[in-house]
Amino acid sequence: MGYQLTYRYRLYPNREQRAELAKTFGCARWVHNWALRLRTDAYHGEGRSMGYAETARLLTQKKKEAETAWLAECSAVVLQQSLRNLERAFTNFFEGRSGYPSFKRKRDRQSARYVGTAFDVRDGRLKLAKIPGTIKVRWSRTLPSKPSSCTVTLDTAGRYHVSFVVEVDAKPLPKLNRSIGVDLGLNDLVVTSSSDGEVWHSGNPRHLRKSLRRLKRAQRSLSRKQKGSRNWEKARRKVARIHAKIADQRRDFLHKLTRKLVDENQVLCFESLAVKNMVRNRNIALSISDAGWGELLRLVQYKAEMAGRTVVLIDRFFPSSKRCSACGHVIDNLPLNVRCWTCPECKAEHQRDANAAENIRRVGHTRSQACGDHGKSSSAFMLAGSDR
Ligand SMILES: [Zn+2]
Repeated sequence: MGYQLTYRYRLYPNREQRAELAKTFGCARWVHNWALRLRTDAYHGEGRSMGYAETARLLTQKKKEAETAWLAECSAVVLQQSLRNLERAFTNFFEGRSGYPSFKRKRDRQSARYVGTAFDVRDGRLKLAKIPGTIKVRWSRTLPSKPSSCTVTLDTAGRYHVSFVVEVDAKPLPKLNRSIGVDLGLNDLVVTSSSDGEVWHSGNPRHLRKSLRRLKRAQRSLSRKQKGSRNWEKARRKVARIHAKIADQRRDFLHKLTRKLVDENQVLCFESLAVKNMVRNRNIALSISDAGWGELLRLVQYKAEMAGRTVVLIDRFFPSSKRCSACGHVIDNLPLNVRCWTCPECKAEHQRDANAAENIRRVGHTRSQACGDHGKSSSAFMLAGSDR
């Protein structure tokens, strides 16, 4: 079975290439907004829906008109893909997966999508249709196979990236006889407890605390500048750069973490996102993004699926912290500052996070055996994602 994965790399276009990319982004954005307006008007004005094919036909006309002839200077593939992306956004809207498509603004993240012969990787550099020369790429890891499409982006911090979509075959790993429970830690991103009795503390993304302090300072500085001034723009860029860096650090950490968990365990047990949202998010690294736990689960699920591991999501709340993992006794109260406690029933001594992780492992392990679904993920997994 094949999986579609995204591989993302930093791009370093030169001055001339940046100018041409700016034009391309502008054309892609213009086509998006123009087609969105047409489709919206057709719906509200005439009560009919306008599809991709009709917008593509109208775009061909538009390119021949004098005042929009500049569209022809940009890659035809990029413009066509802009319409296709809009089509997908409408499908997602009609099927209830997302809100109504919105207009794109110049100050938002910019993007252009290339397929087929409109892009190529040559001698370790990226060739794009209508962009002069080849663009320097930082290959942080190797592409596993020939990509079917790529999207070039410029984020609000001024950085360029390329995301390649590649088809990858499943790589089942040798079966193991080890299960693990994973919980958020107080001082660590996660704490795990495994069937062979090992407790593991993941630690936190390195440098993250430092980046957070810098972010706070930069945000304060931005709030003191006059909105729209040159200094304000400089400060805004700085905040965006630090945000981008923190996102990178988190992503990198989560990739390595989930790779390790999947490589070392056959059955992986977590509380579902719905359960996690019920508990106050007390972890600094995950609270940076509300989607933290969801992102961790998404990564672990597709990696587990590819490797033939089982992920068990516990979707009902149970008192994982306050329950003794040795005898099942539940204590009334466990304040956040209590790190260690002794069970009044069986006298077992518990380290708070490790005990919670062990409870999650036990519940999950029992469920995976009851279902007999070894080698299969017990819940839906995402096909798209970035592998590591
Ligand atoms: Zn006990």
